[in-house]
Amino acid sequence: MVWCFAATSPAAAGWVDRTDLTDPTDLTDPTDLMKESKKLRPSGGYRQTASFQTATLIYDATWWFCERFLDARSRTVDQMVQAARSGRQNIAEGSRAAATSSQTELRLVNVARASLEELLLDYEDYLRHRHLPQWAADSPEASEVRAVPRTFRKDRSDPSDPTDLTDLSDAQRWALYAHWLEHDDPAVRANATICLIHQANYLLDRQIAALEAAFVEGGGYSEQLATERLRQRRKDPTDRSDPTDPKPPTCPQCGKLMALRTAKAGKNVGSQFWGCTGYPECKGTHPL
Ligand SMILES: [Zn+2]
Repeated sequence: MVWCFAATSPAAAGWVDRTDLTDPTDLTDPTDLMKESKKLRPSGGYRQTASFQTATLIYDATWWFCERFLDARSRTVDQMVQAARSGRQNIAEGSRAAATSSQTELRLVNVARASLEELLLDYEDYLRHRHLPQWAADSPEASEVRAVPRTFRKDRSDPSDPTDLTDLSDAQRWALYAHWLEHDDPAVRANATICLIHQANYLLDRQIAALEAAFVEGGGYSEQLATERLRQRRKDPTDRSDPTDPKPPTCPQCGKLMALRTAKAGKNVGSQFWGCTGYPECKGTHPL
């Protein structure tokens, strides 16, 4: 797993093909994403996932940031704490839903992603309105925050994934970031939290892409597959896949099958819809 910043979401297109993510140099194919999906959703449950743990850091940091630097009566405090909480909570609920419905899981992870995006904007607003500096993604400050797991793993003899902190307790993880998250300068705290939000969003984007890829694979991508799936389900009464998972329609513009997508920008950000599998040549969409 790579701790890296996804660039701020491209606002140009109303939606982008999630299997492409936002990094044009990323050659990961959907099979890799499905393998990674297992890594993102280990059997130990949501508490062991990097996305939930990062969201916990963000929630705690936001709670203390608001308590110290904002007027408790302001609506901004409510909004920021709620957005941070919703990000964390929906990752947990999405993970619990995973056992029964991939569609529900996908919806909840999308809500988490949208909540963290809201929180990101709140922190950026805070800095801008006070004329405080915002760290560039490639600045030494941001790089130092990003390097925390690697710095921690350096000099350690165990061969653990150098980008992974999931074996630590919440308190141990917080301690690694306390230097920034308990800083007296609100700009340092806000910028470090922005770094963590980018990391969580990156992880959630990977998870969403993997879920969408799995959905297209398992959700009856072709008529044949759908039939086979139905046949298997009848044979195996323990199959707990969601029978209400919708079948993909065909594109109203070109007739190709459609795939489940997530709006990445615009007023419907985070919501799902059917997009043509011929994208980007064909821009056909269909509401869910
Ligand atoms: Zn089409």
